[in-house]
Amino acid sequence: MQPVTRTIRVALAGNPNSGKTSVFNLLTGLHHQVGNWPGVTVERKSGAVTYGGYRFEFVDLPGIYSLTAYSIEERIAREYIIDELPDVVIDVVDSGNLERNLYLTTQLLEMGVDVIVDLNMWDEFSASGARLDRGRLETLLGTPVVTTVAHRGEGKQALLEAVIRLSENRSARHRHVPISFGTHLEEVVADLTTRIAAAGGERLGVPARYLATKLLEGDPHIVEILHNRVPAARAILAAIDDLRQRVEQAAGQEPSRTIMEGRYGFISGLLREVFVSQTVDRMEFSSQLDRVLTHRIFGLPIFFAFMWLLFNGTFTLGAYPQTVIAWLVEHLAGSAQAALPAGLIREALVDGVISGVGSVAIFMPNIMLLFLGISILEDSGYMARAAFIMDRVMHLLGLHGKSFIPMLMGFGCTVPAIMATRTLESRRDRILTSLVLSHMSCSARLPVYILFAGAFFERQAGNVIMLVYLFGILVALLIGRLFSRTLFRHEAAPFVMELPPYRWPTGWGLLFHVWERSRHYLKKMGGVILIASLVLWVMSVFPRAPQPGPFVSRGEAVVVTGAQEDAVAVQSISADGAAVAGVSAEEAAAERRQAAASIEYSIMGRLGKAIEPVLRPLGFDWQLGVSLITGFVAKEVVVSSLAVIYQIGQEDDEEIDAGLTSALRDPKNGISPLVALAYMAFVLLYTPCIVAILTIRREIGTRWMWFDVGYQLALAWLVAFAIYQGGQLIGLG
Ligand code: GDP
Ligand code: MG
Repeated sequence: MQPVTRTIRVALAGNPNSGKTSVFNLLTGLHHQVGNWPGVTVERKSGAVTYGGYRFEFVDLPGIYSLTAYSIEERIAREYIIDELPDVVIDVVDSGNLERNLYLTTQLLEMGVDVIVDLNMWDEFSASGARLDRGRLETLLGTPVVTTVAHRGEGKQALLEAVIRLSENRSARHRHVPISFGTHLEEVVADLTTRIAAAGGERLGVPARYLATKLLEGDPHIVEILHNRVPAARAILAAIDDLRQRVEQAAGQEPSRTIMEGRYGFISGLLREVFVSQTVDRMEFSSQLDRVLTHRIFGLPIFFAFMWLLFNGTFTLGAYPQTVIAWLVEHLAGSAQAALPAGLIREALVDGVISGVGSVAIFMPNIMLLFLGISILEDSGYMARAAFIMDRVMHLLGLHGKSFIPMLMGFGCTVPAIMATRTLESRRDRILTSLVLSHMSCSARLPVYILFAGAFFERQAGNVIMLVYLFGILVALLIGRLFSRTLFRHEAAPFVMELPPYRWPTGWGLLFHVWERSRHYLKKMGGVILIASLVLWVMSVFPRAPQPGPFVSRGEAVVVTGAQEDAVAVQSISADGAAVAGVSAEEAAAERRQAAASIEYSIMGRLGKAIEPVLRPLGFDWQLGVSLITGFVAKEVVVSSLAVIYQIGQEDDEEIDAGLTSALRDPKNGISPLVALAYMAFVLLYTPCIVAILTIRREIGTRWMWFDVGYQLALAWLVAFAIYQGGQLIGLG
């Protein structure tokens, strides 16, 4: 016999009646003792054997379905794992009942313990005619998988060998698989995980993410352990009830339920991939619906149909409340105009703040509708299917379908989406996804599309917007493929696509999501957008141009174009009825020229002129150029800046949205539908806002951040160039 070189401590876990005791007996033979767990009358069996130069110490944990702290058995099992830290946990699974048994497995995986999945009762499973791909199961679970027929003593050697390999870390298969709990909860989990890790929670020997999950589940035992052993986490614990309540309101159900559904979703997705032939035909509602919605051929067109509905609905339905808000903004501007004495303050308020913030405010209904739509798709369980459908497409492109969930979150805001890439296991996938994710157009860019598509494509606006979004997805996928072929050569890690059950979204839950987003948007309007509008206004009026004449006589060019303008001005002004107010067409035109000249003289004008040469080949003039620069602050500001730029020199009491739309359409500004397309593409593809950039830096590092900024600027430029120049070549304006 070989001398014993090492002791390996192994715990057996599993559901009641999974054959755990039989496996224990198979492993230990007669070498075992029976006693009780300390303080309770639950039987504790332990035993030791030597094999292959190792001493194995086995403990048979109580039979359990889950690792919450509801029963004594569960507590014993979990405390044993956390406190005693066994080298390996053998998870005994009844192969005939995988769906239920794997629920415990998912929790063991969450705890980060080294698990071996033992498919016991393999004889019954095989006899039933079912077949599964064991290798695939190993890959997707990230754990070794062995089969046993315990009561007949089959599989002992394979099991012991697997234990040795795993504890010596020689198992190539071993890795940790995170389970995603859906986009809404992931935001919270990611945030909580960061905070727990910062407080030193990993000192407990389990991953911070596991602790975050448990806190959200409201596990009193974990709260107690954290309280006693990690004093720095007490602040987090104090706020956890509030957090759980907020999450519950948002989801319309307790977080523990969402987490449970995430685990079962993981299992359904897993089983769907590993079963070679599914003998048990589950005729449940969910699986029947899945047959249609995740169909190999129809799945994708159905997905696009939903997208079409989403974006057309956003545009068409949003137009109604939009007019109400526009009316409000207009009246606000009107009363401010009337109430305040003429001067800089009034100008700053009306042309700067009200015009800038108002131009963004009118898109609020569109944003709300978009989120209503996304929340319906999300809460009903369809989004997970979309990821499932995209999985195949994504594989072709070197990405994984799992990356699609953070990408979908990118439709809302890039920042939480980047944080959600943490559910991806490998750093390669995280970096890759973070790099392409901002092409999933965030909601802050929506106002730009609505404005330009509405101004230049009228009837087709909804479709154009959808195309922009689809184009973003396409670019993300293609860039993903490019990067995965060049920057990251190794393969994408395989993943399970979660398939949570379908559910009717609750009205309350939907309301909550929409409100959360709207609040975020309102806060932005009252903060960064307001300040930016004011700063932009200052930049657009200072330094003041010398008054008045010199500009008119300075350059012939101004006068010549001025003549054309007059014709346009006469028309529009008499249509507006401004002529009735006693302003002659000539005076109005002169005023416009003066205003145009003064903005060109301002900081903004100079800035725009400075970058104009770079953007000229894309068909953008300096005004569009300036608006793009302001987008670094926040993408909504692009619209505010256009409002500030074009509002100056317009009639003061003109409706803001109509004013901006007609200003964009005004031939003198030289924006053709083709330029509008190129501009939308540029806005879609260029660098995200500063907060997103900083998040990228925090999550994947400074070097990747610069890479991200650089390639996105280059890409946006190239694509806009191709659209504009290509369009001109084929005679599109
Ligand atoms: P425990 O509750 O998890 O400890 O399960 P036991 O070890 O007590 O087993 C429950 C029942 O399943 C017993 O009747 C065993 O004989 C039977 N059993 C255990 N393993 C197998 C197996 O691999 N195949 C079959 N067919 N029966 C098994
Ligand atoms: Mg037993």
